[in-house]
Formats: sequence, C-alpha cells, structure tokens
Amino acid sequence: MRRTKIIATLGPATDQPGMLEKLIADGVDVFRLNYSHQTHAEHEKRMKEIRKLSLKRRHAVAVIADLQGPKIRIERFKNKSVNLKEGDIFKIDTQLDSDAGDETQVGVSYKNLPKDVKPDNVLLVDDGRIVFHVKSVGKYIIECEVITGGILSDNKGINLQGGGLSASALTEKDIADLKHATEIKVDYVAISFPRDAEDIRHARKMMEECKCQARIIAKIERAEALNHIEEIIEESDVIMIARGDLGVEIGDAALPPVQKSLIKMARDMDRAVITATQMMESMIENKIPTRAEVFDVANAVIDGTDAVMLSGETSIGRYPDKAVGAMSRICEEAEKQRSVRVSDHRINQRFENIAEAIAMSSMYSANHIGAKAICTLTETGGTCLWMSRISSGIPIFAFTRHTSTRRRVALYRGVYPVKFDITHTDPLEANKEMIDILLDFGVVKDGDFVIITKGDLRGRRGGTNNMKIIQVGQALEHTL
Ligand code: PGA
Ligand code: MN
Repeated sequence: MRRTKIIATLGPATDQPGMLEKLIADGVDVFRLNYSHQTHAEHEKRMKEIRKLSLKRRHAVAVIADLQGPKIRIERFKNKSVNLKEGDIFKIDTQLDSDAGDETQVGVSYKNLPKDVKPDNVLLVDDGRIVFHVKSVGKYIIECEVITGGILSDNKGINLQGGGLSASALTEKDIADLKHATEIKVDYVAISFPRDAEDIRHARKMMEECKCQARIIAKIERAEALNHIEEIIEESDVIMIARGDLGVEIGDAALPPVQKSLIKMARDMDRAVITATQMMESMIENKIPTRAEVFDVANAVIDGTDAVMLSGETSIGRYPDKAVGAMSRICEEAEKQRSVRVSDHRINQRFENIAEAIAMSSMYSANHIGAKAICTLTETGGTCLWMSRISSGIPIFAFTRHTSTRRRVALYRGVYPVKFDITHTDPLEANKEMIDILLDFGVVKDGDFVIITKGDLRGRRGGTNNMKIIQVGQALEHTL
C-alpha cells in the first residue's frame, strides 16, 4: 500500500482509449485539469470520464482545476519562431501586433510589463532557455540585449529574475475558468503565481462568490511568495512546490533547500503539500526514468511530501502509464525507510482542541502499540489530515459518508478513503462493520490492534472526541 499520492495531468496522451482507466488502475489518486491549455468542453468531457471510471472501479480520485494565473507570455512571430543570437538587440513591444514578431521584436500579452521592469533586470524566456538583459525601458518598449540566444517560438513564457512583477494572481480568464471548474465540481482549485496571502484571500472570496466548494492549492512559483510564505500557507489548504516557474525566478540551485523547508513548514502547519514539475521529465520520450529522476522522486518522499505530480509525462508523453508505474514503485520503496516512519511532530506543543488531541494521541498510541490500522470516522477529513501530518507506516482509513470528503482525502499521505454511512448504521454495529471492512481488504488479521476514532454525536463535523483500541477477533457487537 503506497502512502505517497500520485497526481497525473490530463492531456491528449491521456485521451487515448482506455488510458484513463489504466491510470486509475495503476494507482493515480488525483488528476489535474490544466486550464492553461484546452477548452472548457474538453475539461468537462475528461471530468465526466473520471467520475464515471472512479465509480466503476470504486476508487475515489480527486480532481484539481489548475488556473493559468498571470503567466506572462510573448506573443507570436510572423514565421512561428526566430533564431536569436548573443549580442543582438531585441525589443519587447506592448503595442506591437500580436502576430507581427520577427528577429528584432515581439509583442507581449501583459501590457504593464514596462512598469515592472528596470534597466539591468534579467528576463528569462521559455523557462530560462533564452536570456535577455534589459538595456532601457520606455512607456511601451523594453529594449534588451540577448545574453543567451537560440530558437524562440510563439507564446513562450517570460519570468523576471528575482521576481517583482506586479500582476495579481487572478486574471479575467481565471475567473471564467473558476466558474467552469465550479460547474464541473472539481475538488481542488490551484491558484497560480500568488504573491502573498492577500492573493489567496482574494481567490477564496471569488470562490465563495461562485459558491465553489473546492479547497485551495497555492502554487509557490514566485520569488516574492517565499517572503510571505508563512501567511500564504496559513491561508491555503494545500501548497504546491511549482519547481518550474519557481526555479526560473530563484535559480535552479536554490530549489532543493526550498523544497525541503516548504514541505516541513506545510506539514508543521497542518497543510498538505505537493511536489511538482519535471519529476520524470525524460519519460515524456522514454520508457524508463533516469537515475536522477528516481532519486528526485524518492527524495521528495523522504522529505515528507503528500503527493508527487506528473505534468507533461502524462499529458503529452509517450508512456503515461509507465511514468505512473515507475513513480509508484519508487515511492513504495522510499517509504520503507525507517526515517519516514518516525516523527516528533507536535511533541512539545499544545493541541488546539479535542479533535486534534484525539488525532495526535491515536497516532502516538498506534505507533507505540504497533497497531496495523487506524479507522477514523470523519465528516470533513480534518481528523485524518492531522493524523497524516505525523510520519508513520500505519495506514489511516477515512470512513466517511461524503463523496467530496473521500475525494479530498485522496491527496493526503497515508490516508485511504472508505465509503461508510454512519448515519445509516446501527451505532452498536459500527465498530464491527469497520473491522469487517478491514478484514475484507486483507489489511488486518486476528490478534492485530486497530485504533478507531469517532465522535459521540454521529454526523457532526469537528466532533471527534474518542479513541478506542481494538484487538481484531474480540467480540464487537453491541459496543460503542
Ligand atoms: P505549471 O506550474 O505547470 O502550471 O507551469 C508548475 C510549475 O511552474 O512548476
Ligand atoms: Mn508554473
């Protein structure tokens, strides 16, 4: 049973007949709809297919709508691409016709760019493959010298080295996409390029206005986000370490320590965390990963990430299922290390409330008595999120009647959703029924210890107030 969750981005490669079902069977826990590409109709079609297949296979999978955000892009060239040489002078012109780019100039979608850029700044285009040194900035035109040249094609992204672009995190397109994501009932919305906590609060407000029930993922991909990281994590439900854009802004060498500290911070603050981008990049073309990619995935698991994400590997890659398979076996192996099964989480801290105290005590007891499973009866999934912040090797089963909760917890490390309607179960039979389900799954046998947590008032959120240690095989009928 793999604890680390796998996220697969959808695209033309996952549209091949039978591929989605194969990916679900191979263990994808979460799918990502990338709103930077494709139409609403395509997202909707994929969503329908996912919901249908996950019902068929009785496997809860979450869906993320990843909004494009204020990604700045150059516009287009007359001939689709140009070849830029070092030392050339090249102009970015906000007034140029969208399709009129050539060897000397190109348009840009973000009209405020000249306000955010100063002479001597460095602009990184196409993930840093092309580098411009800013010579002068006018009202509409940024004049640059080409520092690193090469082929530059239509619509490539631009980042400002060190960050500092003023665009806020939600564009008009994002609002329209958010409405669509709400209609198709996604489980998570990923906000791209937030600068600070205010951007997340604004996104949450917009989501409330649309009546969007999804939880928020803050993509950490701007240099300035790191200056406000604690408040951003506080305001979000999940963070994504978006290593692509972040690496361009802060420099690739700065990424590894940032990844480690972001994972630790998110876990300490009771948030989930996703590690994303280029984890298995070479598998877009190849059937096996490079050794470096194997280590990258394993290291993210050892760092404590909840989930690892595939982007191009599944959306446009040649072998989406092989990428998922490789990722899965690397995670499982990395999880066997002792260091990822022990924890000093919250050991010296006060607990905020009863439910948290029960969650923490359960994990402590489970680890020390050698329990084989934890069953948590949960409404919102809050209890199992707390539990899963403690590293351990013990599976946490989230028994819940809510489909939305089952999907949401599919992202949490070590948490496995189970459909169980406590409001339609005789309370005196619930313990027995839950243990019977675990026996059915084959995760426990006679004599094993299992921990159960629940609330006195069934179906009440935040009401977890008791913990029970059960030995499988003991008579459970008529126990509360
Ligand atoms: P993207 O975000 O794939 O939407 O660009 C992830 C990243 O920047 O790493
Ligand atoms: Mn990005």
